Formats: sequence, structure tokens, C-alpha cells
Amino acid sequence: MNIHEYQAKAVLKSFGAPVADGVPVLSLDDVQKAVDSLPGPLWVVKSQIHAGGRGKGKFVEAEAGEKGGVRLAFSKEDVMTYAKQMLGNHLVTAQTGADGKQVNRLYIEDGADIDRELYLSMLVDRSTSRVAFMVSTEGGMDIEQVAHDTPEKILTLSIDPETGVTDADIAKLNEALKLEGTAAEDGKTLFPILYKAFTEKDMSLLEVNPLIVMENGHLRVLDAKVSFDGNALFRHPDIVDLRDKTEEDEKEIEASEWDLAYIALDGTIGCMVNGAGLAMATMDIIKLYGEEPANFCDVGGGAGKEKVAAAFKIIMKDPNVKGILVNIFGGIMKCDVIAEGVIAAVKETNLAVPLVVRLEGTNVDLGKKIIAESGLNVIPADDLDDAAQKIVNAVKGA
Ligand code: ADP
Ligand code: MG
Repeated sequence: MNIHEYQAKAVLKSFGAPVADGVPVLSLDDVQKAVDSLPGPLWVVKSQIHAGGRGKGKFVEAEAGEKGGVRLAFSKEDVMTYAKQMLGNHLVTAQTGADGKQVNRLYIEDGADIDRELYLSMLVDRSTSRVAFMVSTEGGMDIEQVAHDTPEKILTLSIDPETGVTDADIAKLNEALKLEGTAAEDGKTLFPILYKAFTEKDMSLLEVNPLIVMENGHLRVLDAKVSFDGNALFRHPDIVDLRDKTEEDEKEIEASEWDLAYIALDGTIGCMVNGAGLAMATMDIIKLYGEEPANFCDVGGGAGKEKVAAAFKIIMKDPNVKGILVNIFGGIMKCDVIAEGVIAAVKETNLAVPLVVRLEGTNVDLGKKIIAESGLNVIPADDLDDAAQKIVNAVKGA
């Protein structure tokens, strides 16, 4: 689960991290009050969307100007002008796709006097099974370029969960970021704070880009992007409250309400599968035969008829779907139950695209029989290879 920058900063602040004062704003009526509560003389108007690269982004609407989704304002009037230009309009960044994302919230923040912009992120490093820091002196808006062109400028440091962030770790991070004096002192407290926030809140990603050294020598978290591990959210009702559903794919929300894992992709074939491994294999083989998956919906191990039908309907909502492949291994979940769910959903949705069903496992014969006798236009398949070829041919013919 992702949250907005202003929410991430509030979480980090609650652990003691240094962030600027700022006020989130949901409507133009609140802008004046927000700006009056901050001292100036520099304010920053920041579009809040769940995507990075806002500073270099562009608005779709001409009246919003081309100055990007993060703007420095040197007067209260400018804050108001920028807020009007941003709120309600669509910001396109390197991470949003061509349609951009509608800006429904702004963050009006105290401007900082920046000496240096650094990069810091934390993630779960699967190769070491530890939480790792990644830091670089080359912070700001082009870290992807740095990672690509000069990866040696990024230090990765994994933390021993037994000890947490040690003095030796701090020394390495300070050195990599070339922090000295006041900034190095700040580093001593900041790195352990970030580690504590990351682990206690079950984050899966924390990116501070930039972390800045201010002209007064102190460190400050100037941007913050946080994702949380969805499987641990039950432990954090305070974090769940921060969810902004307007930022999420409507189909993914509906899927999560049914406890289905739905992932939207770019191709034309909708996939209903059970289990992540089978999902990957199904997508690979679709590609092998020359098409791309539009999405996949993992119905998990123990779905009933209603859940299968719900999954089917969610897949159908994607207008890019030109055909559907159901590929299920019935273990705990029996093939006849799946067949009944599929048939119920096909009837209800008046399915207009080709559908290939490949079932294997418990009660497979009964499942196939139910489908064959349904009188519906369902193409049965015997194995994965057969299924993939049939759906690809059907989509190409369509
Ligand atoms: P994004 O990464 O989405 O482009 P950032 O929050 O990193 O958004 O902002 C982009 C740039 O804007 C930063 O690299 C920094 O130079 C400047 N900036 C952001 N917030 C402030 C602030 N409070 N004071 C001064 N400059 C800021
Ligand atoms: Mg940034």
C-alpha cells in the first residue's frame, strides 16, 4: 500500500525525523489559511499523487502551465496561483503513464535553503534477507539516471537485525554521503530513526529523495515516498486509515475486497489463475505464443463459486481484454466448483470475447463435463500449451 508524501512525512516525524512544516490542502478554500500558517518567505506547492518525478512532470491542461507538479513560490499570491493551476488537473510524470493522475490534494510546505541534495532509500534486500540502506551524494530528481550511468556512486548497506544500525553503519553512511560536522551529527540520529520507522511500521520501501543538507548544516527529509507490506497492514490500523482509494485502480480495490490478487498489465488477454507460480507460467506462455496478458487475477487456493464469478467480472471490466484464459489447478479448490463459477459469470456478463478454459486436478472430469454441457461458447483446452495457443489464435482471429 502506498501513501502520499505528506502522510509519509507525518509518519517519519512521529519517529523524530526532521521534516519541514507543512499543511495538506484538499480544496482551494483552505489554501490561504495554510499559507498564512507558514512563515515564508519561500513556500513550496507540492502536488500529492502516488507517483514520483512530480517536479519534472507536466500538466495536461494548458492553463496549468508547464512548470511541473512541485513549485517554489516567493509570495503568498504565487502560492494561490499555483494551487489553482494544480488542483483538479492532471499531472503527467515519468511514472504516471500518458494520461497522468488527477491532483486532488496539495501539500503547502515551508521552503528550505538547500546546500546539497542527497539520495537515501531503504528496502528489503532479498539477497541478504535484511533491510538495506541505499545512499548516494547524487540526490535530487535524476537518481534513475545515476543508477544507470554511474552505479558506483550508490552505496548499498544491509543492516543486521540483531544489532540494528550500529556506529560502524552510521560511519559508512555518513562517509558515503560526505556528511561532516552538524550534518554528520544529524546522521547519527536520523539513520536509526529511519530504520526504526521502517521496521516498526512494516514498510517495504522508503525513499527520501532528496535528503538535504541545509545551509545551516542540518539534515532534512525533503521528499518521502513510502510503501507498506500489504500482508502486515492488519497490524497497523493507523496506516490503513491513510489509504487514498482515488489513487488506486478501481478493479484492484474491488479485487482486494474479494481477497483476490488482481494485477493490471498492458496486453490483451485476461488471465484467471490460482497461485503466483501458475500466474507467471501462464503469462510466460502467452508471450511465447506472441500475445501479452492484459491482467491476471489470482483466485487463490480456496475460492468458492461466487469468488470465481467476481474474479471473472473484474477481468471483464478491463476494456483491453480481447480474450480470457482460465488456467486453474484444482487442488483444495475443486474443478467442478470453478466450472460452475465460470459459467455463472459468463451468463451474467454476456461474455462477448473468446474464453479458453484449462482445468486440471481434483474433479477435473466433472468440471469439463459441466462446461461442455453448459451450451455456452467456451473453448476447452487440455494442457497449458494447448490453452495458450487456443486463446492467442482466438484473439488474433478476432
Ligand atoms: P519529486 O521527486 O516528485 O519531483 P520532490 O519533493 O523531490 O518531488 O521535489 C522536487 C524538487 O523540488 C526537490 O529536488 C527540491 O529541489 C525541490 N523542493 C521540494 N520541496 C522543497 C522545499 N520544501 N523547499 C525547497 N525546495 C524543495
Ligand atoms: Mg523527490
